[in-house]
Amino acid sequence: MATRLYPLFARLDGLPVLVVGGGAVAQRKVRALLDAGARVTVGAPTLTPTLAKCHAESAIARMVGDFDERWLDDVWLVIAATDDRDVNQRVSAAAVARRLFVNVVDDAELSSFQVPAIIDRAPLQIAISSAGAAPMLARRLRERLETLLDHALGPLASMLERARRRIRSRLREPSLRRTFYDRVLDSRVLDLLRAGRADEAEQALDTLLASAPVSATGSVVLVGAGPGDPSLLTLAALRALNQADVILHDRLVSPAILDLARRDAERIEVGKEAGNHHVSQDRIQALLLEHARAGRRVVRLKGGDPFVFGRGGEELEFLREHDIAYEVVPGVTAGLACAAYAGVPLTHRDHAQSVRFVTAHTQESLGAFDWKSLAAPRQTLAVYMGVGQIEALRSGLLGAGAPGRIPVAIIENGTRREQRVIVTTLGHLPRSAARHAARSPALLIIGDVAGLAATLHWFGAAPIDDRPRQLREPAGIERAAA
Ligand code: SAH
Repeated sequence: MATRLYPLFARLDGLPVLVVGGGAVAQRKVRALLDAGARVTVGAPTLTPTLAKCHAESAIARMVGDFDERWLDDVWLVIAATDDRDVNQRVSAAAVARRLFVNVVDDAELSSFQVPAIIDRAPLQIAISSAGAAPMLARRLRERLETLLDHALGPLASMLERARRRIRSRLREPSLRRTFYDRVLDSRVLDLLRAGRADEAEQALDTLLASAPVSATGSVVLVGAGPGDPSLLTLAALRALNQADVILHDRLVSPAILDLARRDAERIEVGKEAGNHHVSQDRIQALLLEHARAGRRVVRLKGGDPFVFGRGGEELEFLREHDIAYEVVPGVTAGLACAAYAGVPLTHRDHAQSVRFVTAHTQESLGAFDWKSLAAPRQTLAVYMGVGQIEALRSGLLGAGAPGRIPVAIIENGTRREQRVIVTTLGHLPRSAARHAARSPALLIIGDVAGLAATLHWFGAAPIDDRPRQLREPAGIERAAA
């Protein structure tokens, strides 16, 4: 295993640095060091014509001959770039003995520091390292990022540096400045810089600064985090997470998603589980109000979609009542995500004409069901919070005339690594759930399409087919026979 490295950008302007070696590789290293303002000495028996010219122009100093330990006197940093491992090893050992940081090009073992792959948008630089484990991967990533990152970012960073004092004196609070910088990034400034219209860009920046609010107004973004797989987040969600001062999140939101949020954002778990209300809804609303009134950008992060059994509606009513500005970012709801990741096409036209999202949270919600309509044929039910009410679901549906052979898929931890799918029938549902200890969070899909999971699954472990043997023919075969 490669050692974990500490990332670092070194300030070398005016400092003496030694490069041992006078070939093409050394020449590249010298170029980068000169760009950083280092005072470079090259030690080698011979130099490339370019290096010789640099020396002639006094851009670099020179030591002639074989490596001598005294070359290390006074330098801060050493790079060995010879093609002779023996020499490289001597340089490395001598540097380490003097507690100097040394890099031997393409030799992680002999190096105490490594030079990362760089995406250069000076003064902005992005460094990538694989700690020597997979340099190819770092290079590939670099290529990808090169194409992603606007070349106008460099000029933008310089322009913001020049404007920094003005910005600071007008916007004293860090959170106000963050909002302002976000607005700059979304404005025409970058387009203007890209088009080489630096003066207009400067003017646009000034206009934005003049109109930036000087006192904080808090706001709330209600964000759907999706069912668990971070790649199902929307770009809008990612952006809200990166702009947040405070994140109030449900317990169901996976840590991998919270890792994508702004590092400095305060994270508050207000998890709720059926029957175990950690933090009451009133308390959640009080927290939203408190943080928004303090001028913070609050993200209320919920599993799935905020408006699907997520109490997002109540929170908006509350915010409206208290005059707090809000936005809503939808998420992929568990019903859609679990179906997709289990291979259940919710409205496959051979089997269903409609899909209904229902919650079976409490006895009370079950009591209010119109069982007759739920039991109607050619529809799919996606049941949220249903694992605790399996017996009642079964008897309600059977009582209203639904056939016991109807397939049911229990999808536990949908889209997550630990996803588990159990395919059974309505008649056998309680027995299957008990036998396989089905647990929350789980979504139930009831209807003929649920049986398709047995053939169309693609993600994670294959489903457990717990249907009675005679009911196991995949729907696809029936169709072929028809
Ligand atoms: N707003 C959420 C639903 C909240 S209710 C949404 O749109 O998805 C919580 C219920 O959602 C859970 O009891 C479970 O039935 C379902 N659920 C949420 N995430 C799930 C997941 N990853 N796998 C299976 N079911 C999930």
